[in-house]
Amino acid sequence: MINYSQQWIDETDQKAVNDVMSSNYLTQGPKILEFEEAIASFCGAEYSVTTNSATSALHLACMALGLGAGDWLWTSPNTFVASSNCALYCGANIDFVDICPETYNLSTLELRKKLETAKKNNKLPKVVVLVHFAGQPCDLAEVKNLSREYGFYIIEDAAHAIGSEYENIRIGSCVYSDITIFSFHAVKNMTTGEGGGATTNNTNLYKKMKILSSHGITRDIGLMEEPSHGPWYYQMMDLGFNYRLTEIQAALGLKQLEKLDNFTNRRNEISRIYHESLQSLPLKLPYTKSNIYSSWHLYVVCLKKETKKERKDIFLSLRSMGIGVNVHYIPVHTQPYYQKLGFKWGDFPVSEEYYHNCLSLPIHYGLTDEQVSYIINSLHECFK
Ligand SMILES: *Cc1c(COP(=O)(O)O)cnc(C)c1O
Repeated sequence: MINYSQQWIDETDQKAVNDVMSSNYLTQGPKILEFEEAIASFCGAEYSVTTNSATSALHLACMALGLGAGDWLWTSPNTFVASSNCALYCGANIDFVDICPETYNLSTLELRKKLETAKKNNKLPKVVVLVHFAGQPCDLAEVKNLSREYGFYIIEDAAHAIGSEYENIRIGSCVYSDITIFSFHAVKNMTTGEGGGATTNNTNLYKKMKILSSHGITRDIGLMEEPSHGPWYYQMMDLGFNYRLTEIQAALGLKQLEKLDNFTNRRNEISRIYHESLQSLPLKLPYTKSNIYSSWHLYVVCLKKETKKERKDIFLSLRSMGIGVNVHYIPVHTQPYYQKLGFKWGDFPVSEEYYHNCLSLPIHYGLTDEQVSYIINSLHECFK
C-alpha cells in the first residue's frame, strides 16, 4: 500500500538515535535543549518547548493562557479532535467557526460575523485556535487584527505546517499569534515517532509551558516560594503533567529538522505534478493563496457536483489498487462526544459539504515519480 503519508528515516537518523542509546541520558538531558533551540531558531521564535505530542502542547498552551471554566475557545471543525479537546481539558466551553470553501481553513469572514454576535451576547472567546489545514496558513494578519479588536488570544495549530510560510515569514515565528504548536507524529512532515512542541515570543508563556510540561516542578531557586533546603530540593508550583519528550526522540528530531527543507521541496514538487495532471478530472484541486508557501502536509481533492461518482466508490477503488487515500477530516462537531455537548449535523454546513466530497491523495518525501504517475493514472481510470 502507498500510504497517504510516511516517515523518511535515513542512516543519520538511526546513528543519532543509537548515539543517545549509549549515552548517559535517555531523558531530560542535553538533546532536548538542543532540539528546542533548533526549533525556535528554524521558526524565528524566541522560545520553544518540546512535548510528547501536539495534543499535550495544545493543553499546555491553553493552560498557559489561563483558559478555564466559563471561558470559550473557538476553532475550525475541519481538524483533528485534539484542536478542540484542549478546551475541554481546561474545563472551558468549545465552539466552532465554519470553514472557507476555498482554503478549507477557518473562514475569517465567518469569524468576524460570529465575533460581532458574541460581543452582543457577552460570549467572546478567550482563545481562537487557527489550524493551518494541509499546510496552508490561515489569514494570520486579518485574524490578528480581529484579536486586537475583540481581545482574544491566538494559538496556531501548525501540526500540518512546520516549514510553511505566511508573507515570507515562517510559521512558528508567532508574529501573529501568542503560541504556535507542532506535531512530530509519524504521519506529519517531520517526526520523532510521537512528539510535539510549542513556540512563543512571550517569556511568561514560555516559562509556564515549560514548568507545566514537567509536573509543575522547578529547581530554579529564583522561582521558589521558600528558601531551598539544599541541592536536592525542588518545589511544585502548579499542577502540571509529565508531557516530556525523550532524548532519543529529540536526537531524531534534530536530524529530521535538518532534512525538513528537502522534505518540503519534494512535497511542493509532487503537489505541482498532481495539479498539472488532474486538471481534466471532475475534481476541485487545492487552491493556494499567493501570499503563502505551503508545507503540503496533505493534497486534498474534492469531487465536483457534476460527477456521477460517489466519493466512497473512488476511495474503495483506489484502496483496492494499493493507494492509501484517506479522508481529512470528519467535522469534529459531528463526533458523538461533541453531539452530546449539543452540536449536531447541519451546524457548520461548509465543513460538512467538504467532508462528504474530500479525498487526500498520498504525498510525502519518499513517494517516487513512478508512484505519483501510478496514482494519477489510477485516478483517471476511476473516472472513465
Ligand atoms: C496530528 C494533529 C494533532 C495532534 O498531534 P499529536 O502529536 O498526535 O498529538 C493536532 N492537530 C492537528 C491539526 C493534527 O493534524
